[in-house]
Amino acid sequence: MNKDIATPNRTKEILEKHGFSFKKSLGQNFLIDPNILRNIVSHADLTDQTGVIEIGPGIGALTEHLARSAKKVVAFEIDGRLLPVLEDTLSPYNNVEIINQDVLEADLNKVVEEQFSGYDDVVVVANLPYYVTTPIIMKFLLGKVPIRAMVIMMQKEVADRITASPSTKAYGSLSIAVQYYMDAEVSMIVPKTVFVPQPNVESAVLKLTKKAEAPVEVIDEDFLFEVARGSFVQRRKTLLNNLQSSMRDGKAKKEQILEAFEQIGMDPGRRGETLSIEEFGKLANALHGEFKKA
Ligand code: SAM
Repeated sequence: MNKDIATPNRTKEILEKHGFSFKKSLGQNFLIDPNILRNIVSHADLTDQTGVIEIGPGIGALTEHLARSAKKVVAFEIDGRLLPVLEDTLSPYNNVEIINQDVLEADLNKVVEEQFSGYDDVVVVANLPYYVTTPIIMKFLLGKVPIRAMVIMMQKEVADRITASPSTKAYGSLSIAVQYYMDAEVSMIVPKTVFVPQPNVESAVLKLTKKAEAPVEVIDEDFLFEVARGSFVQRRKTLLNNLQSSMRDGKAKKEQILEAFEQIGMDPGRRGETLSIEEFGKLANALHGEFKKA
């Protein structure tokens, strides 16, 4: 087996050889601990039939571990300066394709269709650029990209928000949007010391696994998320107050909102943070019906 990229010495050697300097604005914190990488990869349950999408390969630390276990790895890297580096470090692997593109600009369904045609198993594995963690996750979920799971490193604080349960401080519209599609669990907490340069925040690896079916049947998913966002605009306010000021640009009628609560037998004086996803689903469906009448 080839020598791991992710050791402090080898990483330093590669960076010096290519005269590479980190761009903080691109969230460039590279992993220098092979044990962490093995651990991340083990949570992805890869087989030699799995297709992997990676976001931000950097100098290839995680990519090479993925290439050793999966059938094929397709990695999006925004920073063109890393292309010659990756060509060098990943030269022993013939099952890696680098796409020099901002993942947020990519047509992910098309990429899956073209790169993983005939694959039964596609997963996302990444040490994410932290400044775009949420948009990247939501792009995969809202775009209904056909993946089994995501095993992703992110700020611990965001992982806590995604996995939060009702009636906790971290619970909010992000918990609802992600948990609507995926089962979410923190696989491990990761110290700052395994990165170069070290980030300012604690990190965690989160495993998201696609739910077999949605936890609640909703008329309109986007509307559910709009209701969820609107319910948390001011956490200390009641649902009625928050929804009245947020729905329909603040033009929703109080009577209509109250009518929706009445229909489902829910107290409009509750706070958003106490509602389960199922309850948000019911509320969204009732509000949807009321607003359609107007
Ligand atoms: N995978 C490497 C590792 O673990 O050592 C590097 C991870 S580093 C946290 C994030 C990587 O994502 C960087 O290589 C950065 O250039 C890249 N990146 C940042 N924004 C991106 C975007 N919008 N699309 C694709 N790649 C991006």
